[in-house]
Amino acid sequence: MTTAAEALPRINVMKPWLGEDEVAAVTEVLQSGWVAQGPRVAEFERAFAEAMQATDAVATSSCTNALQVALLVAGVGAGDDVVVPSLSFIATANAPTYVGARPVFADVDAATGNVTVDTLQAAVTDATRAVIVVDQGGIPVDLDPIRAICDPRGIVVIEDAACAAGSTYHGRPVGSGAEIAAWSFHPRKILTTGEGGMITTSRPDWAIRARRLREHAMSASAADRHADLVSPPEEFGEVGFNFRMTDLQAAVGLVQLAKLPDAVQRRRQNAAYYRQQLTDVRGIRLVDDPACGTANFQSLWLEVDADYPLDREGLLLALAEVGISARRGIMAAHRQPAYRGRDTGTAPLPVTDRLTDNTLILPLFHQIEQTELDRVITVIRSAGAI
Ligand SMILES: *Cc1c(COP(=O)(O)O)cnc(C)c1O
Repeated sequence: MTTAAEALPRINVMKPWLGEDEVAAVTEVLQSGWVAQGPRVAEFERAFAEAMQATDAVATSSCTNALQVALLVAGVGAGDDVVVPSLSFIATANAPTYVGARPVFADVDAATGNVTVDTLQAAVTDATRAVIVVDQGGIPVDLDPIRAICDPRGIVVIEDAACAAGSTYHGRPVGSGAEIAAWSFHPRKILTTGEGGMITTSRPDWAIRARRLREHAMSASAADRHADLVSPPEEFGEVGFNFRMTDLQAAVGLVQLAKLPDAVQRRRQNAAYYRQQLTDVRGIRLVDDPACGTANFQSLWLEVDADYPLDREGLLLALAEVGISARRGIMAAHRQPAYRGRDTGTAPLPVTDRLTDNTLILPLFHQIEQTELDRVITVIRSAGAI
């Protein structure tokens, strides 16, 4: 890197917002002597369900696991097609693959980066049993019209809300309108537990089965069995998994969940500042709230078009030269070696290709300073004025 990069403190694309309260919460769990899945996980599930206006919540060790379990409880398996956006983190496409189904790729809308009724319909086949819709980067997907076409056809709509804690859809928390949704608490996301995930669902029967599947499909949880001096013999009704969250993680999650409204508010302020300072720059477009809801702006992406003097790679380099680590926009699974050679449907994906090639994600996190935002803005403005 150049000497200029060394002269300025680095600005990362993301930094988790963790503090003394999380430290205290973990310490308390360590001192309690119960560190694996137990009372804190149960408390985090209750608090998360309430915050997201879900009937039930089941914690897992990641969103990837949560998606896999969601597909299983929805009855998806070998021979089924699951329509997913190619424009998503690879886990969205991997989850159907894990359960023996075929991911079929759908294109997305250029304004939001999300699937729509039209892009899904171009990909749905006779074998489609489920679709996974993503609130990409925290931009809420327009779920209602999608459910209106899928529900009558018996196609389960699974919401991959990995990025979307704190986003809203028609005035309610994202995910609350879904039969089943999956969430991530990876440090790249707005709310983190180190690693971790959650399933929320409106179907009590699905919640019961998900709760079992994440713990080896055991008839009684380890926490329940611990309650009795002589625990009843356990039974394993099917082949399950170890997808458990730990109480250490859940304790952090409880603190993070309480901070979520603040985190969203600050991100939206920072996103608004970027927007205000960049509106008159020709050839760039910042993703914005869709008509159907509000974003948490977990990933504030910018599209570079032909009117801007630099292409996306050029702008990434210009930022890197002064110590700013932006990131390429959302990946496209259909272009990865893992899926390139596979039969993943025939829907054209022009918008996916366009967005994955021409977008970048701006540094945006809770504690980012105005001077840091200004450093990013200055690079984009001065490169745009060449
Ligand atoms: C991050 C992410 C995932 C995976 O989450 P993990 O908790 O890391 O497994 C899945 N889907 C989307 C859209 C994501 O952004």
